[in-house]
Amino acid sequence: MDYFPVFLDLKNKRCLLVGGGDVATRKGRMLSKAGAVLRVVAPEISSELRELVAKHNGELHEREYHSNDVTDCVLAVAATDIESLNKKISDDAKQKNIPVNVVDTPELCTYITPAVIDRSPLMIAISSGGEAPVLARLVRAKLETLIPMSYGKLAHLASRWRERVKARFDNGDSRRKFWEKILQGPAAELAMNGQDEQADKILSDEIATEDESLIQGEVYLVGGGPGDPELLTLKALRLMQQADVVLYDRLVSDGVMDLVRRDAERIYVGKRRSEHAMQQENINQLLVDLAKQGTRVLRLKGGDPFIFGRGGEEIELLAQNHIPFQVVPGITAASGCAAYAGIPLTHRDYAQSVRFVTGHLKDDSINVQWPELANPTQTIVFYMGLVGLREICESLVAHGRAATTPVALIERGTTQQQRVLIADLATIADVVESQEVHAPTLFVVGDVVRLHENLSWFKGGL
Ligand code: SAH
Repeated sequence: MDYFPVFLDLKNKRCLLVGGGDVATRKGRMLSKAGAVLRVVAPEISSELRELVAKHNGELHEREYHSNDVTDCVLAVAATDIESLNKKISDDAKQKNIPVNVVDTPELCTYITPAVIDRSPLMIAISSGGEAPVLARLVRAKLETLIPMSYGKLAHLASRWRERVKARFDNGDSRRKFWEKILQGPAAELAMNGQDEQADKILSDEIATEDESLIQGEVYLVGGGPGDPELLTLKALRLMQQADVVLYDRLVSDGVMDLVRRDAERIYVGKRRSEHAMQQENINQLLVDLAKQGTRVLRLKGGDPFIFGRGGEEIELLAQNHIPFQVVPGITAASGCAAYAGIPLTHRDYAQSVRFVTGHLKDDSINVQWPELANPTQTIVFYMGLVGLREICESLVAHGRAATTPVALIERGTTQQQRVLIADLATIADVVESQEVHAPTLFVVGDVVRLHENLSWFKGGL
């Protein structure tokens, strides 16, 4: 280990910062965040740095550096672009045993600053020992996406209850188990969503109960997006990695399933057209039963759970049974497929509104208000429209939409197998019949489809 990692308490402590440009301002920002009283010395000082100095009643010295500037400081930072001056600051500080950092010059430093992920009070510092700062920054970027912004709130929950939990569990082992359960359970989710009162209520109940069997589970209704796993939200990913059981259906892509916690139990609940592996009522009931056993259940759906996803039905029964749940939106097929096909759903020249319509057949016909869809300045996106495609096109034309209106059928959108078929209302049904088309497909109708020719960018693996 080349450096010993520490976190310094700089609140109300005087820190010397020599330099007044961009780099010094950046350093000043971090020091000020930690509550340091800045003593800034430089012939010219940026306006932001001046404000930072004023914030904690620091000192501004618009002049050259003097050796005694470092006196009474707990820390010194040299951020000038004059090598000899930086060296002098470093020597002066070392002589007085004051930790000193010279920006980008490790050999003159007695300490170096890490790349930081700030979820205060939770802090993560990353360092490459000054050897590869860009690598440290890349690692930080990776971790930033893995560690939710809301972990700060979680740390506050833990700190609020720390003493009470300590008093309740004097055995360190049971205390650790208690915290592990709390920090991954419904109280943690509530705290991260800013619902402190409810989170506190759960903690006080948990502390009061001796009975382990009272542990309550919860359900995460999560949108898995249209296929490309990189389109998952950070929240979806976090919940996917902490669930005990996952209920998923056919629309959830393999790439997305790969990101579910490895040892989570997986239950396939089907949903291919008209051959449901599990009836909707049974799915609803299963969610309730699992949660009642204390399980963290992930109900993972393709796209967005509230857009043609029956998400509402699934959580209604949970609400009736007072089971905690949360809903995480996903990128719906229309947004995902349109983006990856280079078809903006609205455009000032072509479409002022967009409609998402289900082309699902009910009693052998499509139950849609056709006259409302005739407006030529409106983009229409049909979900589940492949089977009724010919009927959809004929009805649109019969109700006044031009037969030459351009249309796109997007097959397996956002995945490596994505394919986009372009035609018009009069011809698409024949084009589709002459090809082998794989579900899922999305049907987009409107003049915006013309933009595909120029804006298509995603090539997939085909
Ligand atoms: N809740 C989902 C939609 C469920 S309905 C969402 O918000 O996206 C299922 C229909 O969505 C499919 O029949 C198809 O029309 C569409 N769909 C979902 N994923 C798709 C994809 N990757 N490519 C094309 N269409 C898709």
